[in-house]
Amino acid sequence: MIYSASLSYRLVKHIRSNTAKGINKFPFVLMLEPLFKCNLKCKGCGKIKEYKDILDRTLNVSECLDAARQANAPIVSVTGGEPLLHPEIKEIVTSLLDNKYFVYLCSNGLLLEDFLDEIEPNPALSLVVHLDGMEKTHDLMVKKDGVFKKAVAAIKKAKKLNYQVRTNTTIYRDTDPGEILELFRVLKSIGTDGVMVSPAFSYVDVSEEVFLKREQTNEIFKKIYSNLNGITLYNTPIYWEFLAGKRDLECTPWANPTVNPKGWKSPCYLITDAHYPTYREYIKNTDWAKYGRGKDPRCDNCMVHSGYEASSILGKKKFSDLLKLAKWNLTGRG
Ligand code: SF4
Repeated sequence: MIYSASLSYRLVKHIRSNTAKGINKFPFVLMLEPLFKCNLKCKGCGKIKEYKDILDRTLNVSECLDAARQANAPIVSVTGGEPLLHPEIKEIVTSLLDNKYFVYLCSNGLLLEDFLDEIEPNPALSLVVHLDGMEKTHDLMVKKDGVFKKAVAAIKKAKKLNYQVRTNTTIYRDTDPGEILELFRVLKSIGTDGVMVSPAFSYVDVSEEVFLKREQTNEIFKKIYSNLNGITLYNTPIYWEFLAGKRDLECTPWANPTVNPKGWKSPCYLITDAHYPTYREYIKNTDWAKYGRGKDPRCDNCMVHSGYEASSILGKKKFSDLLKLAKWNLTGRG
């Protein structure tokens, strides 16, 4: 099952209770960035450039928990930077789990093997390892040799210890769909629970010509989606259809709000027009009507999961879409 019975129950309850209260903008997944520091300088990453002046700033355990309580999203995705460089990462994860949040702990895998000795597997904890291709490609994208091997070794150890492990793959302009399918097969063979994908986003601060136009995204994802052959997907089939150009979705950036040492990032995980001190101010003061395809040129080629994955679940759905989502949740297949 993609979402366990308890997470499915929490998500349904969360949607129902917000809808009943007339709240139409509510978060599904809090993107918690407790630090920006990283042990890599990946080609497509804008974070370490955007926040280069505050790379030493962090959110402490109580600030992280306070952010989770403000957003009150059932899922907290702990990202960064490299979260495992945070001196209190164990305490942050533990305190989120103790307070009944479902936690996705993201990592580039370099420090993961050692970290596994510090915490216990937990049904509410998923490890999310970033891999952008097979060894040569991935090491090229992260600009460091040996990273792929380290990440794969960490995944194998995590599976041996019974952790839930999924991977996150960013698709760039020159990504070979065949190589991504090979990567997914390798990941399945070593026991990874499933895969997540997102097309790269062209950060203002990144000048590298690696990003996709919408039509290129559609072409690449069409090829991957039609050849998955039993790979478990952690992205919904509706989001995949959107990526493959088979349907359109409206961006819902407020469903994945981002908080970091500067505050609540507005409007979304990718573009920054402001930081607000509280979640409430972020939701209230962001001019949501200004963002999305056709409204802001920075949004025109954006199809990232933090903007659109929740859109595939929220809102009125056709019966056939509900069936698709139910089948996907049970089987991981589209
Ligand atoms: S379309 Fe993309 S860049 Fe624009 S607001 Fe939505 S998530 Fe952010």
